[in-house]
Amino acid sequence: MNVPFLDLHAGYVELKPQIDEAIARTLDSGYYIGGSEVEQFEAEFAAFVEARHCVAVGNGLDALTLALRSTGIGPGDEVIVPSHTFIATWLAVSALGAKIVPVEPNTESMNMDPERLETAITDRTRAIVPVHLYGQPAPIEAILEIARRHNVPVVEDAAQAHGATSLARKIGSHGRAVTWSFYPGKNLGAFGDGGAITTNDGQLAEELRQRRNYGSRKKYEHEIQGVNSRLDPIQASTLRVKLTHLNEWNNRRANIAKRYLSDLSGLSLKLPEVSSACEPVWHLFVVRHEDRDGFARRLQALGIQTLTHYPTPCHQQGAYSADDLPAFNLAEQLSREVLSLPIGPHMTDPEVDAVVDSVRKAA
Ligand SMILES: *Cc1c(COP(=O)(O)O)cnc(C)c1O
Repeated sequence: MNVPFLDLHAGYVELKPQIDEAIARTLDSGYYIGGSEVEQFEAEFAAFVEARHCVAVGNGLDALTLALRSTGIGPGDEVIVPSHTFIATWLAVSALGAKIVPVEPNTESMNMDPERLETAITDRTRAIVPVHLYGQPAPIEAILEIARRHNVPVVEDAAQAHGATSLARKIGSHGRAVTWSFYPGKNLGAFGDGGAITTNDGQLAEELRQRRNYGSRKKYEHEIQGVNSRLDPIQASTLRVKLTHLNEWNNRRANIAKRYLSDLSGLSLKLPEVSSACEPVWHLFVVRHEDRDGFARRLQALGIQTLTHYPTPCHQQGAYSADDLPAFNLAEQLSREVLSLPIGPHMTDPEVDAVVDSVRKAA
């Protein structure tokens, strides 16, 4: 049996009548930028992640960049980011001309390590950007405690964590701002690009609404230099449909993860660790293997498609070759060992069985 890494089309097939209706309704409304679909999605998503405000934007990278810009960061400032993350986390900081200060992950959780974070803080640190990587919440309470002591704002990159909880509280309003991506492959994905920022700070939400729309609150009045980064109403209308299924989809992911955790134990691979304080949403199910490439090839031969998140750490990318960054050994080691197994809300039981059987043979 062939198991694809992720079947995005299945999400459309399941909800085709509602999604087609939402798109038709939006086209009929005559509103193609802003308007009630966007506003309703913002209200519904804010409620889902237990935040007071949601500001929808064009994509997850813009969400990060705008949230960081609102903290006043600029050249000469330092921003702490994980050494092990998707490059968007880094690019948002670089776009503002600030200096990247990477911290190595906790080797078990692969998320930000609060102890390493604290040693990286200097008197030029202007923001901390933890990432809730793979759908596993970073230790946000410990990170916030350190940030509070040093009086540094926290902007959370939650692009992989829609619906995750830490100490029974949803990720969505712990830090000053929390940024989201609705890239199609995320747990909540649009049929194109999309993103958002959630926050409990009403003044910040107001500023972000202005920033995403040419720095304008009133048409043709521009008090600040903003950008054009808006979630379009067609995407908002489809996200509203999908949001009503997100809990169910996250539960399905959790069931698959539970199955993998029980049936793949005792093999020569390292399974993901789950902190007892958290409920992850299993955006990815990432195992580690000493011979990762061989393992992936053996799985491929058995029909199981896997991906690597991520094969090259940010500091070794061409984009950062001029930055003269030191080695980050843990990020490099993870990039050699990690492998993402198929997981998604529309995987069938036979597909899950096939992954389990194949991993048991190939590990
Ligand atoms: C997907 C992702 C982003 C960026 O989102 P886009 O919508 O693709 O711009 C940022 N950070 C992380 C961790 C991501 O996984």
